[in-house]
Amino acid sequence: MFRAELEKIVSYEAGKPIELVARDYGVAASDVVKLASNENPFGASEKVRAKLAAIVNQTHRYPDDSYFALKAAIANKYNMNSKNIIIGSGSDQIFEFISHVILERGDIVLQNKIDFAMYAIYTAQAGGETLRAESEIHDLNEFEKLLAKDPKIIYLCTPANPLGNAMDRDEIYKFLPKVNQNSLVVIDAAYMEFAAYKDAKKHIEPRDVTEKFPNVIYTGTFSKAYGLGGMRVGYGIANEKIIKELHKMRAPFNITTLSLAAAIEAIGDQEFVQKTITHNFAEMEKYEKFARDRKIKYIESYTNFITFFFDRQNEASEIAQKLLKNGMIVRDLKSYGLNAIRVTIGLEAENAKFMKLFDEARR
Ligand SMILES: *Cc1c(COP(=O)(O)O)cnc(C)c1O
Repeated sequence: MFRAELEKIVSYEAGKPIELVARDYGVAASDVVKLASNENPFGASEKVRAKLAAIVNQTHRYPDDSYFALKAAIANKYNMNSKNIIIGSGSDQIFEFISHVILERGDIVLQNKIDFAMYAIYTAQAGGETLRAESEIHDLNEFEKLLAKDPKIIYLCTPANPLGNAMDRDEIYKFLPKVNQNSLVVIDAAYMEFAAYKDAKKHIEPRDVTEKFPNVIYTGTFSKAYGLGGMRVGYGIANEKIIKELHKMRAPFNITTLSLAAAIEAIGDQEFVQKTITHNFAEMEKYEKFARDRKIKYIESYTNFITFFFDRQNEASEIAQKLLKNGMIVRDLKSYGLNAIRVTIGLEAENAKFMKLFDEARR
């Protein structure tokens, strides 16, 4: 009954929700700490909360389906035109649209070996074939060699999830001219706000990259720095022709009335984003020192999470499991073939609790 492609797909397993851990391990829900999905530890900004409270009686209304005000705000932030922008239910939905507008059965999609898990799922849904580079950390020389396989879509996730590293803009700009103009390059910039703050060399501006390279789409999200993961709002920025085709895949009202209002308010509150980012890297330093003191390997992170690597077989999974029993949720990266855990930078107290429980788990 079902399409053959579906056999290749294993449904994505999201980070464990707090309620489930509380139920399974008998920990009070209020004591559970979730550092597993790279959510903003502050939640949404006060301004966003106030806005949502004020419009909670509007849920019977469909949103303005042109997303006029949100696109104008994004355009303004990035010095672009609204015609260059498409809004998705998370940037995830933009990847989904991309797969469906580009891929014919059997077409190749190039991505990194260790990469955001959803790319391969959308590729398979649309009948495409995923080709993975072999190196764990993005190596664009290797990507360049793989261009010979004629990939129709190329994913460049920078900063990368789940490893946390970021590519230099120069490196990417050296690679892009080598790509066939008929292939689409997706720059997944879900954590760009963090990387741009930490190191200007990692900063990619959507206007600059899409003007220089018309076959690039830049994707961003409100789920991370803006603290709106639960509202599901993301965007794609590209030249008008690409955006026009992507719109053919979009159902009306693909984000909600509340999500739309929240995102508009959030993008206007850059002070909150700055607070989020400075807090993030101050706490990140504590994690780095913690890891160094214990000789735990980590990669320098340009995101709101840090990934710890282990030597003893299965150690990461054992630690993740012990933490879970104590109500601390982190991401075990076993499904990526890694003996590693990914920890989202939380509030000061949450991070301190992680470090305490981690030491106990390793004893
Ligand atoms: C979180 C994340 C996204 C965006 O998720 P949405 O909530 O769907 O906007 C995209 N790419 C990566 C690498 C991410 O980590």
